[in-house]
Amino acid sequence: MKKLHQKTVQWQREVPLRYEADIAVLGGGIAGVSAACAAAKSGASVILVERFAVTGGMLTTGGVANFCDSSYLEGQGEVFDQILADLKEWNAIGYGKKSCFHYEILAVVLQELLLRRGVKLLLHTRLADCAVDSSGRISECIVCGKSGPEALRAKQFIDCSGEADLARTAGFETVKGGSSGYQLPMSMMYFVRHVCPEEVELHLPDGWFNPIENKDELPMTSIWPDGPGANALKVKIPMFDSTDTESLTEAEITARRRIMEVLDYYQRVEKKPWLLDHCSPIIGIREGCRIVGDYILTVDDVRTGRAFDDGVARGTYKLDGHKPDDDKRTYILPKDDLKVPPYHIPLRSLIAKDGKNVMMAGRCFSADQLALSSARVATSCSMMGQAVGIAAALSVQKGCDPRELDPADVQQHVIRRGAELAIR
Ligand SMILES: Cc1cc2nc3c(=O)[nH]c(=O)nc-3n(C[C@H](O)[C@H](O)[C@H](O)COP(=O)(O)OP(=O)(O)OC[C@H]3O[C@@H](n4cnc5c(N)ncnc54)[C@H](O)[C@@H]3O)c2cc1C
Repeated sequence: MKKLHQKTVQWQREVPLRYEADIAVLGGGIAGVSAACAAAKSGASVILVERFAVTGGMLTTGGVANFCDSSYLEGQGEVFDQILADLKEWNAIGYGKKSCFHYEILAVVLQELLLRRGVKLLLHTRLADCAVDSSGRISECIVCGKSGPEALRAKQFIDCSGEADLARTAGFETVKGGSSGYQLPMSMMYFVRHVCPEEVELHLPDGWFNPIENKDELPMTSIWPDGPGANALKVKIPMFDSTDTESLTEAEITARRRIMEVLDYYQRVEKKPWLLDHCSPIIGIREGCRIVGDYILTVDDVRTGRAFDDGVARGTYKLDGHKPDDDKRTYILPKDDLKVPPYHIPLRSLIAKDGKNVMMAGRCFSADQLALSSARVATSCSMMGQAVGIAAALSVQKGCDPRELDPADVQQHVIRRGAELAIR
């Protein structure tokens, strides 16, 4: 089909103002859930907008089902502590590995936590547009669920969409990828059940895709535990753009083909008694689009374990920078250069440079590609989320914008909520 990029159409429509809240959080991954829960605990009225049927983002719909950094599960803040405690109560963590969890149970744990805190949850609802003035203040965003387009008015907005959807819609500066021009590669998660060998019925039919005959031909495939009698497999799918409709479509199509080829290899060549159970509903996206903030966290900050006066979250995980243009087990940096000491994530990297009342957390925060490769893990995303939730609620209480807050005050609130910020 011909691309119609050059042509434009104008579209205008009056929509009902259906929702009003102190704080609107866009995206219900671990960052968005943590932000919404923290803001609600501070007494703000909060609406969380999520395009899928469940919250959890990559951890649930992306099938990731594992928390990194597993050495630092404690000390992320009271929201993450509560999530861990609830998973433990369900006996749903330590699923073959200390930090692996049952992701369907996580979806339940997150929704119940949000509801207990009084967060208004809009599922199957997508951010479609926003009204932004010349100073960068967003007054309303337009969300679209099954009731059609409706307006949501809030005092503070938090973009936790991973792809920076709110910031991009508002026309704020964003970046993606690194020197190769590509984002960190995507990977598709899929799940197999162990059965008797004769019950393995699925085989690649003749003429479908490209059968793999030996291990060297495999794309990077990681085999994970998934509770008793099951495994999760992760297959690398590089060089697609998660912020482009057609490229993301192509990534999903490619991923499903690759999964069938890889599974056929394990069944037919390695004789694994694995029956396909399901693929995750969305491909795993490591990097979408990063919003340019008042500060851009750099790989040097991460490598040197830099402390910031406005540090409100902490990263600890290695530089997990998979080579963007290769489907093998390759990294941007040499293997010996991946380890990092604990480092701070400053409040300024969570405030959108071009906005007035817009913060962000999770994998769309302001960082360079390699710094993000460390800070994008679940624990740090939750910590960032909790920090921006607290900061947004303080802004509402004080009638100011996040940039006008005293960072030391935010830091103290974050620490009082159980976040461990010591880095040395
Ligand atoms: C293959 C893979 C393996 C990984 N392995 C690990 C691991 O082992 N351990 C670990 O800790 N981390 C791992 N990660 C990283 C981690 O899972 C993610 O970086 C982290 O979960 C991101 O959280 P988030 O909330 O920032 O974004 P997401 O989880 O992506 O959440 C964004 C949410 O926003 C919603 N959304 C997006 N756009 C819109 C819109 N326009 N309107 C409404 N809603 C919207 C999405 O549906 C989603 O729920 C892995 C990632 C991948 C891809």
